Amino acid sequence: MPVRWREVGGRVLLTNDAGDYLWLDRAPFEALAAGTLKPGHPVWAELARSNMLHDPETEARVVERIRRRSGHLQVGPTLHIVVLTLRCNHACTYCHASRQPEKRAGFDMSLDTAARVLDVILASPAPDLTIEFQGGEPALNFPVLRWFVEEGRRRVAGGSRRLWFSLVSNLSTLTPAQIEWLVDQGVAVCTSIDGPAELHDRHRRIAGGDSHRRTRAAMARFDAAYRRRRLDPSLAYVNALVTVSRGSLAQPEAIVDEYVRMGQKVIHLRPLNPFGMGRKIWAREGYTAEEFLRFWTRALDHIIELNRQGVEMAEKMASLLLTRILTDDNPNYADLRSPCGAAIGQLAYNHDGRVYTCDEGRMVGAMGDDLFCIGDVHRHGYAELIAHPTVGSLCVSSCLECLPGCADCAYAPYCGVCPVYNYIEQGDLVARPATNDRCKMMLGMLDYLFQRLAEPGLPDLFRRWTEVRDRSSVFEPRRPRRPSPRAKARPAAAPPRRAKKGARRA
Ligand code: SF4
Ligand code: SF4
Repeated sequence: MPVRWREVGGRVLLTNDAGDYLWLDRAPFEALAAGTLKPGHPVWAELARSNMLHDPETEARVVERIRRRSGHLQVGPTLHIVVLTLRCNHACTYCHASRQPEKRAGFDMSLDTAARVLDVILASPAPDLTIEFQGGEPALNFPVLRWFVEEGRRRVAGGSRRLWFSLVSNLSTLTPAQIEWLVDQGVAVCTSIDGPAELHDRHRRIAGGDSHRRTRAAMARFDAAYRRRRLDPSLAYVNALVTVSRGSLAQPEAIVDEYVRMGQKVIHLRPLNPFGMGRKIWAREGYTAEEFLRFWTRALDHIIELNRQGVEMAEKMASLLLTRILTDDNPNYADLRSPCGAAIGQLAYNHDGRVYTCDEGRMVGAMGDDLFCIGDVHRHGYAELIAHPTVGSLCVSSCLECLPGCADCAYAPYCGVCPVYNYIEQGDLVARPATNDRCKMMLGMLDYLFQRLAEPGLPDLFRRWTEVRDRSSVFEPRRPRRPSPRAKARPAAAPPRRAKKGARRA
């Protein structure tokens, strides 16, 4: 069968298209490559077990598994990122260019735009749809958030489609009544905690300098609200993630320990990316791929040690990669699939109605370059947006199986490329892997995981990181415990509106 290979730590790692892998010593690998390896050789049976020797049954099995691993191609955009406002009460040191001061007018999504956005979302063919509210600080436009949830649920009621909502927020502006309402409506909540208070507050700047305390206090209020509804605390909680800035690099252990103290079971160590960020900010806060990898591997060493002491914790990026390595499940993570999720897996809607292939494409738009803008909900319907030539370009340029470098890379069955990153960093949608920092990070993370997978006991430990518990019961709407916080400014629900067929774009 076709295999790819890579030398790691003096041995050779073989992989096939279905994600099977096998370590070989140099001598049998060279015999295999030369065609002189014979049945009866000790590695022959291992190659057969790993689906690397051809026969019709193996071929059929591998084809079926590739189909399952590529399930994302059958679905359509499931994730819809709605930027409710560009205003924010924070001024984080690494924030992208589009953030606007809290009191500035003209940067909120209007109800009219929201109605057109919802039309486009519901025209997507995906059976499960997630609307993710982002900003700025999306909770500053709470009336429109509430409209989306109530109107969205009304529009899908009685049908077979499922609609989920998620709020990405610093939580610091939420009132107790808003928290109760979000819990009653089953809105999933994700926030940012960059580590211990000193590190977090140094980067996440807010008047009063107490961002960490305010976010933690709101998380505690959510926990209390979940407990009052007798929801399983191992399923009902606020997710948190870390944005890794230069100041984080020296303290991976302290950051992980902060997440253990918070009771989180997963930590997402998200590298800073250059989308929408001025060069000056990148020069101050950015770092090389090698620096990030040193940080990430130290953090993982620490987490594995904690696991061995009985502490439950996993790192999100590692979990996603391990899911691709150890299972045929498809986490459908936009940046780890081929082609990537730009437009065909997710869409991003700016506050003014412009639609982008993904949130990262929107951030490039905030820098004044609308290459990744595929239309406007005021002029285009779903079919026109998805037929935009940029969508095809991003599919082609993120299809690993046909990209120079990636097509031959042993990690292609597990990896993904980002055309937006390539465009910003290398001036081309297509990556040049040899000098691409994102590729270096992927290579480093996958080298680390494969090397550790070869250690006794680690496959079982890592397998636990791939177990995903079904949390859907937490994110169903439930009967409110108290009256809904009807804000005075709440607009009247707009009637559902059909997206106009706009003039064809160039
Ligand atoms: S991006 Fe890099 S690591 Fe990923 S498949 Fe391409 S060459 Fe391999
Ligand atoms: S272009 Fe990049 S950021 Fe956008 S979905 Fe693809 S991989 Fe993700």
